[in-house]
Amino acid sequence: MDHVCAGRGSHAAHQRSARSAAGVSRRTVPGRHMTESRKGRDDQTALARLTDELVECIHCGLCLEACPTYVELNREEDSPRGRIYLMRSVAEGRAALDGSVLHHLDVCLGCRACETACPSDVKYGFLLEHTRTHIEEASHRPMWQRLGRRLLMEVFTHSATMALAMFFATLPSRLLRRPPSAPGGIVSRIMGGHGDGGDLRLERFPPLRPSRLPRLTPAAGEKKLRVGLLEGCVMPVLFPEVNLATVRVLSKLGCEVVVPPGQGCCGALHVHNGYGRQAARMALRNMAVFEAAQCDVIVVNSAGCGSTMKEYAGFFPEGSPERERAAALSAKVRDISEVIAGLLEQADLKPVEMTVTYHDACHLAHGQKIRLEPRRMLSAIPGLKLVDLPESDHCCGSAGVYSFTQPDMAVRLLKRKVANIESTGADVVATGNPGCQMWIRSGLKLEGSSVRALHPIEIVDLALDGATTSGDSPSRH
Ligand code: SF4
Ligand code: SF4
Repeated sequence: MDHVCAGRGSHAAHQRSARSAAGVSRRTVPGRHMTESRKGRDDQTALARLTDELVECIHCGLCLEACPTYVELNREEDSPRGRIYLMRSVAEGRAALDGSVLHHLDVCLGCRACETACPSDVKYGFLLEHTRTHIEEASHRPMWQRLGRRLLMEVFTHSATMALAMFFATLPSRLLRRPPSAPGGIVSRIMGGHGDGGDLRLERFPPLRPSRLPRLTPAAGEKKLRVGLLEGCVMPVLFPEVNLATVRVLSKLGCEVVVPPGQGCCGALHVHNGYGRQAARMALRNMAVFEAAQCDVIVVNSAGCGSTMKEYAGFFPEGSPERERAAALSAKVRDISEVIAGLLEQADLKPVEMTVTYHDACHLAHGQKIRLEPRRMLSAIPGLKLVDLPESDHCCGSAGVYSFTQPDMAVRLLKRKVANIESTGADVVATGNPGCQMWIRSGLKLEGSSVRALHPIEIVDLALDGATTSGDSPSRH
């Protein structure tokens, strides 16, 4: 089917074609049947609030080839346009929010590549988050799945419980003296996933306790900025070396680094998976903590967390004081690459002889529109050769807890990503998000690849003569 952008005047024709492609028919799912059920009415009312945004989609289809799930499955229902059509069908009482609709929304990665491609500026991420919040609040899943999802949210968003969970998950490989790995299949089943999940290959056994950063690190030399750092939930357990490298680099480049006590999860996993109220509570906690720390900027070294913190205002109602406070806080949030790229220009950098390719984390490229800064940062390092990665902004399949909920699609996307990385001949793939780093690293190990997956800040740290980090350690040669 050839969908060409023809403007809003041809809505009816586009709606007909999208409706038929999405498998929703007026005859098979008449509105009057929907309104007979209370749940159906509730679904309709909840999604009707999104109508202003839903009607912005002109069904042009320019987002289709950017959508990883559409590219893999070639089905309209698994495209952005198809999903928007499904949401609108529920909002207008023409379809039920049943298992089939739920499935197509669950298969969505939330990568927001469709937002980048969309000429009509449709806020797909907003639509998905609000629809998912309704799905969870209206209890559209079996109870055991709801409990499993909540449990996983809690585990992943508290460093201490995550460290404990990772200890038990890696216990079989510890006892059997095998390389560190965590089984994904059990978690996947609890989450209602389809497929086995497979093992997550780790670089080393995670520590039993999260690795905490110093509360205050002074600037080396003249202080240029007072920086507040988000420590994160995953970083202190799986990537403590990335946090340490971040502090070292910031300090060497003239930043005083504050890691305010009392901070917690940014709320990204919650808001992306339909737990909007909890995400708002998490935002309030971080707002209070970082306001009190009185920093010039708040630095985040995880793309997903930075993207969420920049959108805190959207968690609160229009006109509320919380929304105003959130907007003020978000204005200070920077990805680490935004701060470092400028400061590096005057830095004394040592050569790092390596060939590096760069994977655009979705919530950096699509969520925050940051593509240049990480590349500028890496290109500034003498001796480093930066090579293009084909499909660099195509999601790797990690996507928060997606690799547990939709392991089949996650693994397909991972294999595609690994093949693209291998095709570059690079020694290292750099990416600014812990989920991508963990997932891609695991994929490379499973394929027997010698390519290492690092955070860009680890490479900058090396160029600034930082201590050699642990994990998938960078080295000069
Ligand atoms: S968020 Fe990603 S997976 Fe979902 S519809 Fe958009 S492009 Fe496709
Ligand atoms: S989401 Fe945007 S790009 Fe995709 S079909 Fe709708 S208007 Fe076109």
